[in-house]
Amino acid sequence: MNNLAEQIARFRNMAQEDPENDLAHYRLGQFLLEDGQFEDAVKCFRRTLEITPEFSTAFKFLGESLLKLDKKSEAVEVFTKGWTIADDRGDRVPRDAMAKHLDQLGAPIPKKQVATTTTEDDGSPGTGFRCERPGCMEGKRAKQLDKPPLPDAIGLRIHAEICGACWTLWLKDLSVKVVNELRLDLSSEGGQHEYDKNMREFMGFEQEAAK
Ligand SMILES: [Zn+2]
Repeated sequence: MNNLAEQIARFRNMAQEDPENDLAHYRLGQFLLEDGQFEDAVKCFRRTLEITPEFSTAFKFLGESLLKLDKKSEAVEVFTKGWTIADDRGDRVPRDAMAKHLDQLGAPIPKKQVATTTTEDDGSPGTGFRCERPGCMEGKRAKQLDKPPLPDAIGLRIHAEICGACWTLWLKDLSVKVVNELRLDLSSEGGQHEYDKNMREFMGFEQEAAK
């Protein structure tokens, strides 16, 4: 359907027109990485992290891009910082992936710092719901949606793993940008597929195998 060069052009355009859009830089970086444009991918992930410093998956991809450039010590630095952020936020998938990289690089995996987590704890009981989205800012304030926001499997998953604030952010802001910037025709299968792909990416759900 869409080739890589086309995707890169689209997301480059989106990132230029909306420079504060972390998701646009992040997606562009992923496509550049896939295309072997490692230097540019590094720039994209660094930009993503300037906008959203706790975007833990971006650390993973930044480190992987640096590894492709054989910049091992920089990669170790990025994975170490990323691991700590992912661990603090409970982003288990990127955390464990970065731990694996550190291990393969012969670098130590940071220890869980119990002392630092208590400084963030304001003593309130919280809602008891943990949002799994990388980049979620809600922490203990995260609230579960009343019911699945979509009548399908992905709706159930969003209900189980994603907080109301993140869903609202997607629905009210980012989904509109994605549709506009990518000129998606949601009545077409291709448009719907691309929309779903961007939504899954935003939620931090792993990419589906189909591509
Ligand atoms: Zn959230």
